[in-house]
Amino acid sequence: MNFQSKLPDVGTTIFTVMSQLAVDHNAINLGQGFPDFNPDEALLDLVTLAMKEGHNQYPPMAGILALREAISSKVENLYGRRYDAATEITVTSGASEALMASILAFVHQGDEVVIIEPFYDLYIPAIQLAGGRPIIVPMLPPTKQTPQYQVDWQEVRKAITPKTRMLILNFPHNPTGINLKTEDLDALESIVNETGILLLSDEVYEHIVFDGQIHQSLSRREALANNAIVISSFGKTYNATGWKIGYCCAPKWMSSEIRKVHQFMVFTVTSPMQVALAHYMQDPEPYLNLSAFYQQKRDRLFEGLASTRFSPVKSEGTFFLLADYSAISDMPEAEFAKWMTTTHGVGLIPVSAFYRQPTAVESNHRLARFCFAKRDSTLDAAIEKLSRV
Ligand code: GLN
Repeated sequence: MNFQSKLPDVGTTIFTVMSQLAVDHNAINLGQGFPDFNPDEALLDLVTLAMKEGHNQYPPMAGILALREAISSKVENLYGRRYDAATEITVTSGASEALMASILAFVHQGDEVVIIEPFYDLYIPAIQLAGGRPIIVPMLPPTKQTPQYQVDWQEVRKAITPKTRMLILNFPHNPTGINLKTEDLDALESIVNETGILLLSDEVYEHIVFDGQIHQSLSRREALANNAIVISSFGKTYNATGWKIGYCCAPKWMSSEIRKVHQFMVFTVTSPMQVALAHYMQDPEPYLNLSAFYQQKRDRLFEGLASTRFSPVKSEGTFFLLADYSAISDMPEAEFAKWMTTTHGVGLIPVSAFYRQPTAVESNHRLARFCFAKRDSTLDAAIEKLSRV
């Protein structure tokens, strides 16, 4: 049969490849982003209870109402916008499904979608499956003077044409660990006012921001929220990446389009977890304390790396940090990550994997991404190995 792949350039994701390599070589895995500790015991008990109480059949298509109401209250308390639980909030199978459903719902054949590079690996294949065309705006890479990546909003504005359907944003940003500031929201607001562009805001790390910064959710500004789909993930917030539960908040007409896709992708999402999360969310402490919990881990890894030949950068958010390895090697990033895993026993992710052309010279800045969502003992054991490099 003369079959043509819809995604000819797509292989297995870098996260799967690097985790497998870490397993094969018995390496400490600071690559793929997931905690190596359990969710809160109280949350696990609530799931068991929900199962025993009989919450084991199909929940409503958009998610159980109590959970959508809990999400609505949280978002209103933190960011000041009230999303209607009945019509504007949809519980999804992780942030991934919310992203895919949103892109499939809004992007037509031939539409352009602007993304900022480096970017999370799901965006381009999703755009391509919808028949759209990704338009890439590179961030300014780090320099000696400015160790953080930076977004040039003028370049983002220039990339938006009458053919552009959507702009995808992801802050706190994976992999660079940068956050939006109020000036960034100002810049975005002028872009939206000028162009009326739809915004897809991947805010899965909303509860992990450091050094007293606050998360600048797009839902804070009416002009942005009116055009935005705001996405989050319980996986990151409650240390349960394997549960694959997330949600999206968007104005009614947009949510209604997203649900048209969601109902045929998965119809709905596992019920006992939804019931448990609805109860567990009544207490804001776990998500309010998450930044402090992870800041201590970021600092532990940062200080550990600073005593090695790596030059770490303090991330502003997410559970990742970047480190420059140019004092160790001039290998391209993918090669370096493999070498670290197989020879030095620490798995990490090449930042170049978040670029359209991972092997290109412009995509390689001798940076590695480390995940610090790990027990302190895991971080210490990794630092010990890294100090011998
Ligand atoms: N988002 C996680 C990361 O960046 C990985 C998720 C996945 O493996 N698909 O590491």
